[in-house]
Order: sequence, then structure tokens, then C-alpha cells
Amino acid sequence: MTTTQDIPHVHTLVIGAGFGGLCTAIKLDEAGESDYVVIEQGDDVGGTWRDNTYPGAACDVPSQLYSFSFAPNPRWSRSFSPQPEIQAYIQRVAEQYAVLDRFRFGTTVEEARWDESSSRWHVRTSDGDWTADVVVAATGALSAPKLPDIEGIESFAGELFHSARWPRDADLTGKRVAVIGTGASAIQIVPDVAVRAGHLDVYQRTAPWVIPRADRPYTSIEKLAFKHLPLVQKAYRAGIYLGRESYVPAFVLDSRIAAPAKRAALANIRRGIEDPELREKVTPHFELGCKRVLISNAYYPALARESVDLVTDRIQAVTPHGVRTVDGTEREIDVLVVATGFYTSDLPIAHRVVGRDGVRLSDHFAEAGMQAYKGSTVHGYPNLFFVVGPNTGLGHSSMVFMIESQVAYAVDAVRTMRERGVAAVEPVPDVQRAWNDDLQRRMKRTVWNTGGCSSWYLDEHGRNVTLWPRTTYTFRKLTARFDTENYDAVPATAPALTPQDRKVSA
Ligand code: NAP
Repeated sequence: MTTTQDIPHVHTLVIGAGFGGLCTAIKLDEAGESDYVVIEQGDDVGGTWRDNTYPGAACDVPSQLYSFSFAPNPRWSRSFSPQPEIQAYIQRVAEQYAVLDRFRFGTTVEEARWDESSSRWHVRTSDGDWTADVVVAATGALSAPKLPDIEGIESFAGELFHSARWPRDADLTGKRVAVIGTGASAIQIVPDVAVRAGHLDVYQRTAPWVIPRADRPYTSIEKLAFKHLPLVQKAYRAGIYLGRESYVPAFVLDSRIAAPAKRAALANIRRGIEDPELREKVTPHFELGCKRVLISNAYYPALARESVDLVTDRIQAVTPHGVRTVDGTEREIDVLVVATGFYTSDLPIAHRVVGRDGVRLSDHFAEAGMQAYKGSTVHGYPNLFFVVGPNTGLGHSSMVFMIESQVAYAVDAVRTMRERGVAAVEPVPDVQRAWNDDLQRRMKRTVWNTGGCSSWYLDEHGRNVTLWPRTTYTFRKLTARFDTENYDAVPATAPALTPQDRKVSA
């Protein structure tokens, strides 16, 4: 039998090695809190940028902003970087900051259970157990692919893959391919597959808004300036940041402000497609911004190709050799690509976390709705910090900015707990409730809730549990310091406490 003494202990255990986990590692080192380990189920850093290797994968936020503020990259080749450049950047930063010796790749966290008697997390992984004072869950919001619930899909006899699990050796040349979905992933995949495949069927359930992509390669003068004049790159970053922040009112105050973007999207359709019937099929019928706004210059021209059909009849079933729609038509295919998104309103890691009262976090979320305090901490789950937690997602700007804010908050908590001799912290229930009441009050008037669409932003009760309804600057200010006054804290020397004893000021 393994005793607690045999189990390796670490102060901070980080789950996930994407942008969030890597940032946490770097910032813990900088704060002198180097007793940490990063557990990653994949075989490399990168998270979503390691996993999404489908053809055409690129970021919708310019890389000058979609990168760490502390690690500018003079090597970006163009304004919107393709996936391989982003993945190479993440790998380079990990090496530059010399953190990889504390990363355990190919290891899955099976369960993290809070042990009240020792005020520690007991973490079971596929490669042995750990105990940890603090757990940082940086598992990302878009990491668990969601397969569509379509009758017969398991009977398909050809090749089938999810957009986020694109096989390295996939060769679609000359094949009959179907893509299900017209979200951010699909509209990047379709233009590439359209030129390779013999025939492509695109199954659209809801027509998305697609605005033009202001993408261009950087000139050699710009690249030289980025390399030798860091202030130039800072100015680009600041300009992009301010430009993106200016979108916020259209999402949260009045969607009529987005009228110019709507006009640009409708012009994008007219530019890319001549056939009036196809134009009509791709014209969205909800407010711009309600779902993720997509950007592409290549999507509509791809749909207009002879070899591509946009199918808007509802899918009835997948058969061994094709896809059958409700009108009884079966279209035969060799390859089925499902670009149907991710599990978002139910963080998959929550199924593996058991809190102070023995309640699984997923069960707690199922009852209370997915929610946290400052997107970071949850009452009943001491010393657990989320990076990209509930209500921290964005429809307009860089998640890396939000990640840096949340990491600063978690690292300040680790430092504060050590300095003040605190063993455990968790948000005061009333504070957490007030935070979420305020969020949901703000959500009421946002385009996400009022724009007439269904999206992955909302849970099954219609609550927006994924997005941040204010500016990213406000979030940065609110997470700049670990606010001990809003937490219940247990002193390091204290014996195990009853719930009544828990309110000890930090
Ligand atoms: P998504 O936005 O959730 O889109 C899923 C698509 O599949 C939607 O068109 C959806 O239709 C359709 N779908 C789902 N189930 C279906 C079913 N049973 N039958 C028919 N259609 C079905 O997923 P995603 O495109 O992978 O993107 C997810 C998020 O990842 C994005 O919102 C974005 O935040 C991020 N992302 C970013 C980039 C980038 O920066 N360039 C690229 C890819 C992804 P409905 O619209 O009708 O639900």
C-alpha cells in the first residue's frame, strides 16, 4: 500500500501545457515559486495549437497581440499567423524560459481530490500520484472535441475525423469529402479541402457571419523593425489591442454599433458568390456577434466552386457510405470531417476534480451552473485556480491577454499564501455569488443573449457561462492582485477545521 510519505509532493501542480500552463510555469519561476510540476496529457507544449493541425488552421487575432506580452516575436511572417508558426513560437518560448524540465508529458490527470486533513490536493495521474498545495487547471476551454449526435455516425465505413484530430497522413486528393459544420474551424478547412477533393459537400445548419480577413505578409522593412526596434512592435501590439477593445460596445451595449461589420460581411458574400440562390443560403439570420464572428476571404469563393455543394437540408443520418438528409437524398462520400466544435459549457477537467465536501466539480456545476469567482476560484474547492475558467472567454480579442491576467492572479495567490502562512483559500460564497449575479445581469443586454442564435457560449439553461462581458482592461485591473479579503483562509498550522471554523482572516 502506498502511504502519503511515498507520494511525491510539489507546491503547485499545473494541469495543461498550452499557453495557460506555460505562462503559469514561467511566472511561477519569476516569482521564485519554482516548486511546481506541469502535467500534460499530450506529447508537447502548445495545447490547442498542438492539436489543431487541420489544413488552413490560423488564428483570428493578429499574432502581435496573440502572443505573450513578455515574449514578443519578431519572426511573425504575416498579420494573422498560421498554426505552425504559433506552435513553433510556443515551443521556442518554453525553451527560452528553461521550464521544460518540470513538464511531464504523456501523463493524464485522472483525479484531483482535496484532502481536508492535510489541506492538500491528492492528484492521481496515469503515471503515479502527487500531492500538491495548489492546483492550477490550465486545460483550456476548447480542448475536448465534440462529435455530433447523428444517427448512424458510428456505422460510417470510410475515414471519419474531427477537425481537432486531423490525421498527419490524411490525403484528400480526388476524394469525395463531406464537412459537417460551418464554424471557425470549418470555414478554414473548406477552402483548402475544396481545391484538393474530387467533390466536397458542406453541411450547414446555421449560416455564420463571415467578415473579410485583413491579412497580409509583413514586409521585410517591418520584420527588420520588429527585430531591431522593439518599440515598433509594441506600438503595433498597442494599436491592435485598442482596435479590438473598441469592438466591445457592439457586443455588450448595442448590436447596432456593428452595422459597418454587417455591411462588410454582406459585401463579402457578394464578392465571393455570384449565384443568388447560394448567396441567400449563406446569409445569416441572427445578429452579428451572437455567435463567434468569423473572418475569411477564401470561404465564399470556395463554396462557389463547381466541385462544392452547400447542403442546407437537415442531416437525418450518416450511413455506411454517406450522409442522408431529411429529404431522403443520400450523398456518397469517402471521408467525413466533423467540424462540430468542443465541450464548452461543461469544463471536462471538472469531472476529475473532487472538492472539500467530496462533491465532484462537474456535479457542482450541473447544479449551480458553471461559475467561479473572477473566472478563477470556486467555493468548496480550496487552492484550485483556473486559467481560462468560467466567463473568461472573448468574442473580440486575444485569449493570451486574459491568460496573463489570470496567471498573475494565481501566482500572486501562491506568493501571498506563502508569505502569510496560509494553507488554504477559497472564495467567500457571498462574494462568488455577487460576482456571478453581476456577470449575468450584464449578460442580459449583450448580443450573445439577445442576438437570436444558439451558440456554444450559452449553457442548456441559456446562461452565458463562457464569455467575459466587459473590456479585457477591466479584467486585468480586477485580477491584478490576489484579494485576500474576499477569501476564507485556513492558517498553515491549523488542524483540520469544521465548516464553522473556516472563516479565519488571511
Ligand atoms: P463551433 O464554432 O462550435 O462550430 C461548430 C459547427 O458545427 C457549427 O456550424 C454547428 O452548427 C455545427 N454543428 C454542430 N453539431 C452539428 C450537427 N449535429 N449537425 C450539423 N451541424 C452541426 O466549433 P469550431 O468551428 O471548432 O470553433 C470553436 C471555437 O474555436 C470558435 O468559436 C473559436 O473560439 C475557436 N476557433 C478559433 C479559430 C481561429 O482563431 N481561427 C479557429 C477555429 C476555432 P450551428 O451553428 O447550427 O450550431
